[in-house]
Amino acid sequence: MVTFMLVVSTRGESIKLSHLIFKMKKLSLNRKEVEKKIKEFFENLGEATSEEVRKIKKLGMSLNIRLGELRKNFCKKCMAPCIPGVTCEVRIKGKLKNVKCRLCKTTNKWKIK
Ligand SMILES: [Zn+2]
Repeated sequence: MVTFMLVVSTRGESIKLSHLIFKMKKLSLNRKEVEKKIKEFFENLGEATSEEVRKIKKLGMSLNIRLGELRKNFCKKCMAPCIPGVTCEVRIKGKLKNVKCRLCKTTNKWKIK
C-alpha cells in the first residue's frame, strides 16, 4: 500500500510528506513488533541460547522496552535461560527465591511477592 502511494504521487512536497509519515509509522510499528517478538521469544525460552537472550535484551534496551518479570527467566550473569531442574536449581528461603545457575554457579535472588 505504501509503495503504491509513493508511485502514484508526483515529484514535490507530496512525496516528502508521505515519505515522512511512512517513516513515522515504521518507527512506531517497529516498537510494537519488537515487544511482540520479545514476548514470543520468552514463551519458547527453552530452546534459546545465552547469545540469543543477550541479543533480545540489547534489542529491548535500544527501544527502552522493559523486560520486567521476564528478566527472571534467565541468569543475570551468563544470560542462559533458566529452566528449573535443568539449567538451574530453585530454593525458597524465607521471602527470597534463590535460583542457582548450574552453568556459572551464580545465585540469582528474587523477592517473592
Ligand atoms: Zn548463569
